[in-house]
Amino acid sequence: MGDTKGKDRCSNCGQPASRIRRNYLFRESGLSNAVLKDIQVVTCDQCGNVDPIIPRLSEVITVLASAIVRKPRPLTGEDVRFLRKQMAMNGETFASHLGVDKTTLSKWENNQIPIGANSDRLIRALVLMLGPDSKAEIENGARNFTAINDDGEPVRIEIDAKNLAFSYV
Ligand SMILES: [Zn+2]
Repeated sequence: MGDTKGKDRCSNCGQPASRIRRNYLFRESGLSNAVLKDIQVVTCDQCGNVDPIIPRLSEVITVLASAIVRKPRPLTGEDVRFLRKQMAMNGETFASHLGVDKTTLSKWENNQIPIGANSDRLIRALVLMLGPDSKAEIENGARNFTAINDDGEPVRIEIDAKNLAFSYV
């Protein structure tokens, strides 16, 4: 009917929905603490459903992986699972790269046993080395390992999808 606001429809209930910009908690990534800053979302007034419009999704996932391997806090189970999936490895393959059995990896991913500082660094190093970063970026990432500590609050990762940059808050 010429009403541009009507062109977005809720993917859940099919009612007209409105498009706004806001920060979006990116739970679809499998991470509970990753926020996409100022992206467009289609929000439904009828059922409350929110559909994100994520630009350059595969690049956003790559940036998120970069943020995780450089984060100044220990890896969590969901971090490990995210990184494994980002490397397109199943549990058995990823575990064999790390020299552990897949049961151990599964327990890490489900927060049933601690990952431990050595395995934490090994996972980061593996992902860094097999990832798309330049040699300088890999070296920089490895130097960041000395800054990892669990003294403070858990960090939240914010992704700037427009500039493909990340920050910790
Ligand atoms: Zn709806």
